Amino acid sequence: MAEKILIVEDETQIARFLELELKHEGYEVEVFTDGRSGCERALQGQVDLIILDLMLPYMSGIEVCRRVRKVSDVPVIMLTAKDDISDKVTGLDSGADDYITKPFAIEELLARIRVALKRRQASAAAVGNHAAKHEDNITINGLTIAKMQHRVTCQGEEIALSKKEYDLLLYMMENRDIVLDREKLIEKVWGYDFVGDTNVTDVYIRYLRSKIDQRFGVNYIRTVRGVGYLFESHEA
Ligand code: CA
Repeated sequence: MAEKILIVEDETQIARFLELELKHEGYEVEVFTDGRSGCERALQGQVDLIILDLMLPYMSGIEVCRRVRKVSDVPVIMLTAKDDISDKVTGLDSGADDYITKPFAIEELLARIRVALKRRQASAAAVGNHAAKHEDNITINGLTIAKMQHRVTCQGEEIALSKKEYDLLLYMMENRDIVLDREKLIEKVWGYDFVGDTNVTDVYIRYLRSKIDQRFGVNYIRTVRGVGYLFESHEA
């Protein structure tokens, strides 16, 4: 059965071009030209991947992505108009899996789509083992990550983290007291096929520090200059 791709893009020429190219590749395609209707459709499910423009009428791509992420882990590839790291980070922070900057080569987008669809199949297959292996909580100096509940608490207070912040924190806590360089973090948290700047890790470390270290007056995350970061299990 053909995989279904949702295109949410208000520039009709781009939307039309994508529709034709994707249909040519054998995908089923539905097109929406504003954020609200695209979001409504996405929330109904039965979609294998979403190509989501960042700037959309009625509801931004970021907001669409946030709402979709609350109910689904369908892959989302964000289209951004400018080559701006903050847009990319905001897009990824809202739960997008990948982003591509306009103007883009269609071959590159098609390649990213194949990767995202393949990764989704692989993670669906791994879900069974995953649940059994990862029941434990990890607690380090008052910071607890409850993996089954996807909850993080520090000194008893709940900390709201985005998906990537959570993944990064979990990976660092599981590998505490080991210096982790940016490439390693990208590979483990963002995936082998992440295309982009490794300084996205610095941005996420800053988010974690402001939500945890600074808020609770602790120093869990240490910068190892010129190398990367370390989650310290003992108090400095
Ligand atoms: Ca747009």
